[in-house]
Amino acid sequence: MDCIFCKIVAGEIPSNKVYEDEKILVFKDINPCAPVHNVIIPKEHILSCADDITEDNVDIIAYIFTKIPHIAKLSGLEDGYRIVNNCGENGAQTVKHIHFHLIGGEKLSEKLN
Ligand code: 5GP
Ligand code: ZN
Repeated sequence: MDCIFCKIVAGEIPSNKVYEDEKILVFKDINPCAPVHNVIIPKEHILSCADDITEDNVDIIAYIFTKIPHIAKLSGLEDGYRIVNNCGENGAQTVKHIHFHLIGGEKLSEKLN
């Protein structure tokens, strides 16, 4: 499959890994928008949160959220952070493998856009 994030999971594209277990991978964003900008992905290919989260795969999404506090701590984000999911064309999703941006390391703007 021609998916950048699946290739990162497979080790075909290098990444700076922050956390990995059997279900998920976290790596540094190649184009960070804040001092800390990590990308959290399920290893399983799920396209987006538009129509692709089902009863069969929702557990991995819940799992990601149970791991976020640990990942945030590993990332040095003691004083808060932002989780962002871009979804679909108008949501500016450029990589069609569901992912959550973990952003922080500074006081973020209250405005989201
Ligand atoms: P999206 O715009 O789809 O929400 O976010 C995709 C993110 O993946 C972007 O922030 C982009 O910088 C990042 N990204 C795209 N290709 C690569 C890559 O090959 N390696 C890494 N580490 N990040 C990537
Ligand atoms: Zn993929």
